[in-house]
Amino acid sequence: MKYCIALDIGGTNIRGTWILDNGSYGNIYLKKRPKDLQGTKNTIKSIIDKIKDELTRPIYKIGVASAGPLDYKKKKYLNPVNMPELKNFSIGKFIEDTYNVECILENDAQAAALGEIIYGSLKGKKNGITITLGTGVGTGVIIDKKIWRANHITGPELGHLYLGGNKICGCGQVGCAETLLNEKALIDLSKTHGINVNNTKELYLFANNNLKRIEPILEEYGRYLALFICQLQVIFCINNFCISGGISPIAKLALTYIQSLIEKRFLKQQIWMPHEITFSANPNLSGLLGIAALCFEDQK
Ligand SMILES: [Zn+2]
Repeated sequence: MKYCIALDIGGTNIRGTWILDNGSYGNIYLKKRPKDLQGTKNTIKSIIDKIKDELTRPIYKIGVASAGPLDYKKKKYLNPVNMPELKNFSIGKFIEDTYNVECILENDAQAAALGEIIYGSLKGKKNGITITLGTGVGTGVIIDKKIWRANHITGPELGHLYLGGNKICGCGQVGCAETLLNEKALIDLSKTHGINVNNTKELYLFANNNLKRIEPILEEYGRYLALFICQLQVIFCINNFCISGGISPIAKLALTYIQSLIEKRFLKQQIWMPHEITFSANPNLSGLLGIAALCFEDQK
């Protein structure tokens, strides 16, 4: 039995827990991330220290899943769009110097994709694509139970494939999938249908009592998501999809729209039809479980 400590660092929060190689885990600690480097370092330390206090055995590795872009080999951030104060921060060196334990760093969406394959809703599958819908649109492609990186230093950012429209994306391009599928796009879309909510959570609560009112939103959002999945299928032809992230409960409500559009588009190319579209059982956990799976990868 080996323990690792898993952290998930996002623009807003840092969460962490211990995870055993069988996938069981401890209390999840959640703290707001201060918007400066020293504060972030202190918060990372205080969460790791709390987790360490719960453990009686030595820690095998410390894994960090984080919003990027980041260089997983050098274990450092590059120029993270939503966390500019962490630019070039060598987080791996910081953790290794502080705790004298090997650190693993991975893009959060890719870690989430691995988490879904090893412990989550795609468990048992060798190949799968997980789309994480939240502030941004993250993706992870898993082939033979390994993260597929193409020739990228971090991994492919498929949320920046062209999907349509003329919205400018944070990456500098126009019409990226992210501009139609991220939280801002969903909230703007809701407003055009007369539903004024501030975030996905509010929209989901509204949907619980007013499902009919949000049908047009589900239809349109579902259409964009279906088109995105179709593009990914033409490239990868991987049959198992998982939708994760804060928007996934809304995406689940749109599943009928998603499936019927995909069926229509692939009528003549059944080979591209995805076999299943699943939804993460716990979107807050998939990144943590995935980074733990990476920590234990050399044990298999
Ligand atoms: Zn983009």
